[in-house]
Amino acid sequence: MGSTDGVVLGDALQVLQRVFGYPEFRGEQAAIVEHVIAGGDALVLMPTGGGKSLCYQVPALVRPGTGVVVSPLIALMQDQVDALRALGVRAGFLNSSLSWDERRQVEAEFVAGELDLLYLAPERLTSEATLRLLDQGEIALFAIDEAHCVSQWGHDFRPDYLSLTQLHERWPKVPRIALTATATEATRKEILTRLDLSEGRQFVSSFDRPNIQYRIVPKKEPKKQLLDLLRTEHSGDAGIVYCLSRASVEKTAEFLVANGVQALPYHAGLDASVRQRNQARFLREDGLVMVATIAFGMGIDKPDVRFVAHLDLPKSVEGYYQETGRAGRDGLPSTAWLAYGLSDVVQQRKMIESSEGDLAFRRRSQAHLDAMLALCETITCRRTMLLDYFGQTGVPCENCDTCLTPPESWDGTVAAQKVLSTVWRLRNERGQKFGAGQVIDILLGRKTAKVIQFDHDQLSTFGLGEDLTEGEWRGVVRQLLAQGLLAVEGEYSTLVLTEASSEVLGRKREVKLRKDPTPARSTTRTATP
Ligand code: ADP
Ligand code: ZN
Repeated sequence: MGSTDGVVLGDALQVLQRVFGYPEFRGEQAAIVEHVIAGGDALVLMPTGGGKSLCYQVPALVRPGTGVVVSPLIALMQDQVDALRALGVRAGFLNSSLSWDERRQVEAEFVAGELDLLYLAPERLTSEATLRLLDQGEIALFAIDEAHCVSQWGHDFRPDYLSLTQLHERWPKVPRIALTATATEATRKEILTRLDLSEGRQFVSSFDRPNIQYRIVPKKEPKKQLLDLLRTEHSGDAGIVYCLSRASVEKTAEFLVANGVQALPYHAGLDASVRQRNQARFLREDGLVMVATIAFGMGIDKPDVRFVAHLDLPKSVEGYYQETGRAGRDGLPSTAWLAYGLSDVVQQRKMIESSEGDLAFRRRSQAHLDAMLALCETITCRRTMLLDYFGQTGVPCENCDTCLTPPESWDGTVAAQKVLSTVWRLRNERGQKFGAGQVIDILLGRKTAKVIQFDHDQLSTFGLGEDLTEGEWRGVVRQLLAQGLLAVEGEYSTLVLTEASSEVLGRKREVKLRKDPTPARSTTRTATP
């Protein structure tokens, strides 16, 4: 621990031991707690599982008055408060789930100084009634949890967070501590300005989670690949499987159950009672696999999640890091596994293009996706790249797939030219639009009905690509999309050229591609549900 043995830290340590039952502070906690108890503002960047909660809970207990915690995790407030009460902490919350009577009771307790911690939904702070209520009690500190929600650049923006500037204006003497596990340089700067925290101290912990092994594999038959992973490496382990859609959550959970894995579904379309039951079982029982949309996981504290698997591409590196961070909070070896393929890139590019957001929103989403794609396609250490994304440096880790089996790269310039010139020849042909499938069929010289119908066997690139397999061509197209050398357009995911394409076609630019590893042949037999 740090060198300070001052009175302040003594009190804090006592609270830590007596109330929470932990012998000592971890990492930066001691310094943060001491700073906040002394009345300082702070921005805390700590990875998921790093122990952010204690950074405001302990000072709230040491300082006179109530610690007011702003948290977007409304669904979890009840659990958090219950957990604190079980430790003998006087905690309450105010959100829309409370009845009028319950609300009055919590308000009365706060005013009477009978609460150590009060959790608030952010939208509460826009109401004058709440602000007046806070005026009537004594406030120990403001904790702003999930502070990245204030960033419009970030991936999880909540407009209500913008009103948090009022706190400082109205109660300039009350210390504020903002906490997040998501902090690129841009997000961090935005938090500092928007929350008016530039004068505060920043505490940046390492974002490395050395016990998590990062792996990103080419997507072939995702459900089977997943089952293979579970059977060979994570039999009987607790884990989370993320899928993009509710439908694929259901199908994947059914598939796993049919193959003898104890799996439960979780998505926003399920009844609240079912969701709650499944979540409670996941937390309480051993070895359950939760198949979920990203609606699941925020604030979930289960130490022994041994793997987090993504069957679809996350929309941003921030999201990926946060979701995978739910694995291995206990520090034991864990796996972050993602299956990723051409269809993911097409789908996500399309989703952004057809989104209702304004131009700025679409640009931001593109940038987020591009960073995620770069992580998927990298031939260098994934951990180093992740850390770099969060503004930290790392060395090759020996615990990610690219370190363990370094992928080869190859000069894909000619292959890229074949794809791009085929796409060029197909542009707006008779008003028809063609996707990756048709381009690959042409390159492979396949006389499919659709190839014959449009005389595509007459194109000069027909059959020019027999040197690569279909899977390899899909890999080429995927990487061209990822590198922005190709784009998709419209309802049918038509492939179109970009400005950068012409540099490749004009031989002004080389294209380096990653050689997809050939996975070991699966020996798993699967039952079809
Ligand atoms: P975060 O909010 O950063 O994701 P939490 O505050 O939920 O992390 O803490 C993660 C886990 O680590 C919790 O189970 C918590 O009880 C535990 N923990 C936090 N600080 C300490 C500590 N000083 N000693 C032991 N366990 C701790
Ligand atoms: Zn590595």
